[in-house]
Amino acid sequence: MLRLEMYDDVTRVVMSTAISRSIGYEVSAYLVRGVLIDVGFPAVARELAAVLEQARPSGAMITHHHEDHAGNVQLAAHAGLPIAASEATLHLLRARPRLAPYRRIIWGTPPHLLAPIIPFTSETLRLVPTPGHAADHHIVWDAEREAMFGGDLFLGVKVRAAHAEEHPRQLVASLRAAAALRPTRLFDAHRGLVRDPVSALLAKADWLDATVDAVDQRIAAGWSDRAIARALLGREELAYHLSRGAMSKINLVARVRATHP
Ligand SMILES: [Zn+2]
Repeated sequence: MLRLEMYDDVTRVVMSTAISRSIGYEVSAYLVRGVLIDVGFPAVARELAAVLEQARPSGAMITHHHEDHAGNVQLAAHAGLPIAASEATLHLLRARPRLAPYRRIIWGTPPHLLAPIIPFTSETLRLVPTPGHAADHHIVWDAEREAMFGGDLFLGVKVRAAHAEEHPRQLVASLRAAAALRPTRLFDAHRGLVRDPVSALLAKADWLDATVDAVDQRIAAGWSDRAIARALLGREELAYHLSRGAMSKINLVARVRATHP
């Protein structure tokens, strides 16, 4: 399912499936300045094709390779839409990464990226590297209008569950770098419009920074990942069970341990 919401110069394209709605989850692409930011997941391929047909964007910009954001790159590229994405993102899409079964169930299985990419550049929108959530993660920044399209950079202040590729220390640095751009509007790929974005980004950076410090101290004291996760983050929640452990609090601790400088 797909619905549109308007925010002045920005159109939010909200995408969901019956399964994703049942767990309170939706993903947004955005249309701004005639450009589509992210292209959604395979289960909404047909509806997205209709949006492309109607809105006729001049290009698409992709925040990162996860299938809920980049799942229709093959469709868009095959339709001849120019695409801006990092080399790392395109490489991952062409390599067709293995997806955990729960992700295929929620979002559908993306087709292999085989179509040639026509490169896209915008005069006003820029991809800014913000690794952490994923190594290839970027935000899209409209400096003139102080609008930020955050992909999965923010998601919420206290996100206690992580997947196995996250880099919490890099994420803290990316959040601070994004806040330093002083956005007045932040459009999050899952939360929509975030009010007071500089405070929100810094609140998340501060919480994660303090959490990483606390984890580091307990690692130095010889604690196990499980004991640290229990003490600092609490019991595993719904995301853990739905993802069969792919999204977990213990992952956040393990990723702090794995990225110890
Ligand atoms: Zn993601």
